[in-house]
Amino acid sequence: MEKQSLLRQLPAVHEVLQTETAQKLMRELPRTVVTEAVRKTLDKFRQQILSGDGLEVPTPEQVAQQAQSVLWREVIPLMPRVINATGIIVHTGLGRSLLSKRAVQRLVEVATRPCALEVDEVTGERSFRDLRVEKLLCLLTGAEAATVVNNNAAAVLLILNTLAEGREVIVSRGELVEIGGSFRIPEILRKSGAVLVEVGTTNKTRLSDYERAINERTSLLLKVHQSNFRIIGFTEQVSLEELVALGRKYNLPVVEDLGSGAFADVSKAGIEREPMVQESVKAGADLVSFSGDKLLGGPQAGIVVGRKDLVAQLRRNPLYRAFRCDKLTFAALEATLLSYFDEEQAWREIPTLQQIALSEREIKRRARQVAQRLQKLGVPKEAVSVQPSTSQVGGGALPDQFLPTWCVVVKPKEGDSPDDFAQRLRLGNPSVFCRIQKDALWFDIRTVLPDELKELAECIAKAW
Ligand SMILES: *Cc1c(COP(=O)(O)O)cnc(C)c1O
Repeated sequence: MEKQSLLRQLPAVHEVLQTETAQKLMRELPRTVVTEAVRKTLDKFRQQILSGDGLEVPTPEQVAQQAQSVLWREVIPLMPRVINATGIIVHTGLGRSLLSKRAVQRLVEVATRPCALEVDEVTGERSFRDLRVEKLLCLLTGAEAATVVNNNAAAVLLILNTLAEGREVIVSRGELVEIGGSFRIPEILRKSGAVLVEVGTTNKTRLSDYERAINERTSLLLKVHQSNFRIIGFTEQVSLEELVALGRKYNLPVVEDLGSGAFADVSKAGIEREPMVQESVKAGADLVSFSGDKLLGGPQAGIVVGRKDLVAQLRRNPLYRAFRCDKLTFAALEATLLSYFDEEQAWREIPTLQQIALSEREIKRRARQVAQRLQKLGVPKEAVSVQPSTSQVGGGALPDQFLPTWCVVVKPKEGDSPDDFAQRLRLGNPSVFCRIQKDALWFDIRTVLPDELKELAECIAKAW
């Protein structure tokens, strides 16, 4: 009985549409969309009443407020902008690397005006779209040729399908990795039409293991960088140099999937170094593939550098056409690569490198600023502290390397839970992602952009 009367007291759709919030929304968005959000929200209230929890009848304005978040999450769910306070620099869930200003400028130029993407301006003839970026990649890595596809997973698949379809590929058991998002080396190999020949054991593989597996069906030797995990203790892996020597002896190409791949030496920031592309080329790998949006700090792309004849073979494969990237990727990649011609400049301009290099002192200063602001915004002193912690590079690179950092730590209100508090933050605008640790929320300031500090404090205070 009581439920029926509560249901009758719920505001009608047209009443909600007359509220200030709904009117404001309708000035920016079509009425149908706003109406749909209001309907959905009223349905939710109806269900709450029928199930017996939340027995208060909302005002039209309260319904409109809630409809606003239903609108953005369920009716027209655009990707929310996010403040990354997780401390994971290359966060796949949050879109990996941020582009440099230079890359964005180039992107805008190419997006809004025609560009000579696939024509040679000298002859006026059709050409390949990756010939220009190839020159930059060759200069930077010392390779003789290069090509670019959609992502590194596609690059690996393209290489294997081109060079090894119907034949055998030798890989160490210690390198049969899964990269997340179900990219597993054995499965990619199978899908490429190649036959996997595993050698060695999980912790130890010797050169003789590879050599014994070579036969007339062997097409290539594959080395995969163990990007996202480490085997420690009693271990042995064959170096790229040794593998290259073996490949030469049997006239077999050696292909290396570097995973992240770096052009700049990240050990400058006090962490272990991630293998650099230039070194793999120098060591004699016939093809090296790596991602554009991991440590390189560019757009999503799969970059392959290496031997000219092999790259030409890749370009002739019909899969190459299926995996090609658009002009925006080339524009952003070109500009990102330009920064690397002077490594100092790369560290200054590329956000991924900037965040890796950010000093503890500067992070601490920024963290204190956020903490002070929180108090001004009414979050009590006892709930807020600034504490040391560690950030990670992410993107499946350097899983055991931790960069010292500073976090703003905020305890939830009495009676509130850290999970609920974190969810309110994720549902805010902008959405905020952080870490939950020891019943508190940890906001790692290393990955928060300098112009987001004020906003971050406001979001936290609002959700507290
Ligand atoms: C990340 C990674 C890939 C996949 O690269 P994407 O650019 O994400 O497709 C492949 N191999 C290794 C070793 C990786 O670390």
